[in-house]
Amino acid sequence: MTGKKLTRRRFLRDLTAACTCSSLYVNTLNPRHALGKPHKKYASKNKMEMEYRTLGRTGLKVSALSFGVMRLAEPAVLFEALDMGINYFDTAHSYQRGNNEKMLGDVLEQYGREKVFVATKIPPYHRRLGMKRLNDQKSLEAKMEKSLNRLQTDYVDVLFLHNIKDPDWPVQDEMLSFCQKMKKTGKARFVGISFHSGGKTYVDTVDQALKTDVYDVFLATLNYKSPKAHMDALKRARKKNVGIVAMKTQAGGYDQGVRESFNPYQAALRWVLDREFVDCAIPGMVNRQQLAENSGVIGMKMGWSHRKTLAVYYDGIKDRYCLKCGACSSSCKNTVDIHTIHRSLMYWEGYRDFELGRKTYRELSTAENALACIGCSTPACRCINGIKISERMRYAHTTFI
Ligand code: SF4
Ligand code: SF4
Repeated sequence: MTGKKLTRRRFLRDLTAACTCSSLYVNTLNPRHALGKPHKKYASKNKMEMEYRTLGRTGLKVSALSFGVMRLAEPAVLFEALDMGINYFDTAHSYQRGNNEKMLGDVLEQYGREKVFVATKIPPYHRRLGMKRLNDQKSLEAKMEKSLNRLQTDYVDVLFLHNIKDPDWPVQDEMLSFCQKMKKTGKARFVGISFHSGGKTYVDTVDQALKTDVYDVFLATLNYKSPKAHMDALKRARKKNVGIVAMKTQAGGYDQGVRESFNPYQAALRWVLDREFVDCAIPGMVNRQQLAENSGVIGMKMGWSHRKTLAVYYDGIKDRYCLKCGACSSSCKNTVDIHTIHRSLMYWEGYRDFELGRKTYRELSTAENALACIGCSTPACRCINGIKISERMRYAHTTFI
């Protein structure tokens, strides 16, 4: 690139000057906001000493608190995270229509690509033809080239097949040979899978992927309300020395007004980091306040009052927050994807990100979305945790369509 030494201040000045409304991160960059003060009350009181853990058989020494870049629009927050010792950054081919990879690539080009670990994700399915139509190897490779280009790098440290919704996907020949080729050519140092779907699909995805011995890392939904079967599956993976990266760690991040010395998001993150089978967590962070809050859990001990905080928090969201236990999976008389629709609502109601919720919903085919729920006069769907599924599905459809 320029070869010119770039300070953070100059970087922000240049980036702001270059703002042309063409991409989300440049478009929304506001240095004053980016450099605004973190929320003092919840920030770490002492200078934090980052904790590092070994990411399974990859041997990478990753920061326990790592960074889910997905919704971030302010590159200055990444510089601050780097200063704190965060060294693992997770993005994806599809986030912010590619601008998320570009933003991370720009920052790392200035900071030094070799000093950090980068993970990205390639979707194994073809979106326009529906979630279940798998990509062929050629198109997977084309997406990978595009991602490397945006990230301004020749390799990623971990390449994930993104959002596995069918346990048979990771064992398909085309997926396996794509992953092996990426490793062989050095474009990916390690490979893995990411998955959200709950219940049997979650467990079967883990067990099927383990059979191949190809995948080095699993990126999995995990939080203090995760079903035991999910955690047992991850423990089996960890026993085989597969690295475990936890996502969706804060059970939706709904603002319930619960404010204790250790707020519910901090307590939820600490709970995940206390699981011995977890190597790092990648909470999504969108500003300095969230970074400060999350870094505040490093070195903290979880006590009775924090568990109580979590219980109060869950009590306030239990009518909306789907635990992905899978108990309702076969209760729909049609083919509605209840899990993904709940996730799209969580993006809107919990993360306050309407666009992400709508995008997630609209990626579903007509057979999978909640269109069928609108005319369903005798709903068969049942939630063992008290969520009124049919109402929530109809609400999602009317909200996002
Ligand atoms: S309301 Fe929707 S999710 Fe429930 S049974 Fe009917 S179609 Fe299926
Ligand atoms: S809707 Fe209820 S039963 Fe279905 S996965 Fe979510 S929490 Fe479990």
